[in-house]
Amino acid sequence: MALRLYNTLSRKVEPFEPLAPPRVTIYTCGPTVWNHAHIGNFRTFLTQDLLRRYLDYIGFEVFQIMNITDVDDRIIAEADGAGAPITEHTAPYIEAFFADRDYLHIQPAHEYPRATGFIAPMVQLVQDLLDKKVAYRAEDGSVYFHVDRFADYGRLSRLDKRELKSGARVASDDYTKEDVRDFALWKTASEQDEKVAAAWDAPFGRGRPGWHLECSAMALDRIRSRFGIETVDIHAGGVDLIFPHHENEIAQSEAVTGVPFARHWVHGEFLTIEGTKMSKRFGNILTARDLKEEGVDPAAVRMLFFQTHYRKQLGFSDAGLEAARKGTERIGELRRRLVEAAAGAQPSSSEVGETLEAQFRAAMDDDLNAPNAVAAVSVFVSGANRALDGSEWPPAESAAALAALDRTMDVMRLVPAVRDVDAEESAWVEGLIAGREDARKSRDFAGADQIRDELAAAGIVLEDTPEGTRWRKLAG
Ligand code: AMP
Ligand code: ZN
Repeated sequence: MALRLYNTLSRKVEPFEPLAPPRVTIYTCGPTVWNHAHIGNFRTFLTQDLLRRYLDYIGFEVFQIMNITDVDDRIIAEADGAGAPITEHTAPYIEAFFADRDYLHIQPAHEYPRATGFIAPMVQLVQDLLDKKVAYRAEDGSVYFHVDRFADYGRLSRLDKRELKSGARVASDDYTKEDVRDFALWKTASEQDEKVAAAWDAPFGRGRPGWHLECSAMALDRIRSRFGIETVDIHAGGVDLIFPHHENEIAQSEAVTGVPFARHWVHGEFLTIEGTKMSKRFGNILTARDLKEEGVDPAAVRMLFFQTHYRKQLGFSDAGLEAARKGTERIGELRRRLVEAAAGAQPSSSEVGETLEAQFRAAMDDDLNAPNAVAAVSVFVSGANRALDGSEWPPAESAAALAALDRTMDVMRLVPAVRDVDAEESAWVEGLIAGREDARKSRDFAGADQIRDELAAAGIVLEDTPEGTRWRKLAG
């Protein structure tokens, strides 16, 4: 069995075949930093984290790019309201996003291009589209994409011409466009844009990039300069991005490169609250920091999310979160028993461990069926507990079972932080250790060392063992 993934482009579960294995390039549309990301956003980012960690587990070498949208209509409106330039408005939200990411044990992407740092490639992309005559400058000075000149338009979202028109009705009173479907690549600078420093010079007029253009330009810039390619293996986001965002990204990119922009389109379903999409607009949002402040262990959040397949809607509830927390406690307890029983022995082999990994792989290979993977872990926990109760396991077998569990937990991360005498401190230490592991996996050795130093300053010493990192607090 090999990994099969649903591809929105074909509407089918397909074998996953990257352009140049073992390398896998992933571009994920990141947060729009006008405010704190909510846990709906993080459901999508956690699906991507699961995918990335699983690709690592089966031997691929993943390179992930996640953009930060730090200039768009909402950001400009908020910055204007606060009387600050956009970069000043977005800075704390970018920092908060990274902190929330670490709290949820989401592996850092290898690169986080920010839109405001990539204006030159954006201007170039608009110019290329103008030169190819698939874009035009309208009377108001804005530059639009000529949808009629791109034959493949609508292939991803499969909307017909009529639907595309009605979908664009909100903007249809904008008579400067030649066709209501045309979308802005470059928006002519308004007074408000100037006020918040969201306007840049360009040969076709002073203005700012449209949101869709930002992603095409950043994705192409990064993969061209890193790998000399113009196709990413996986492009991912939430289902709301299929149209118009990703449809427009395809049009802008492919009109210039002539090659597929992405081989595989992966879209995650929504997180809802009482049947309504979680969004700022509906005022029903919960942020990762809310959960952190309530003392929710990130393993419980991951468990809750992974218990539902990523292509199904998931309704958030406190009862669901509590049930998920209990599930993670069971795993944590079993793991502690295994560590004790293994007593540092070299792993031999373990049948329940092998069954766990075989079932885990079968589940995840089937379009990332995390709910089935969680079920396999649950069966393993029962089986291992029974074996330990019967004391029929030599330490080497416990060690093998432990190693198998840890390999799957490296992907899913469902082991809660150890709660002992000082639960708060241990949660803090475990969180930092997890952050250090993630940093090391992303080859951010300076970041990893910084975390070790931070712990050392608090009197915590680390010991890296084949079973993972152990820690103890120095007396005094
Ligand atoms: P944004 O910050 O609005 O650009 O969105 C960041 C990511 O979160 C995108 O991939 C969206 O598709 C995704 N997203 C937005 N709302 C939700 C939701 N309620 N559930 C799951 N994903 C969402
Ligand atoms: Zn995007």
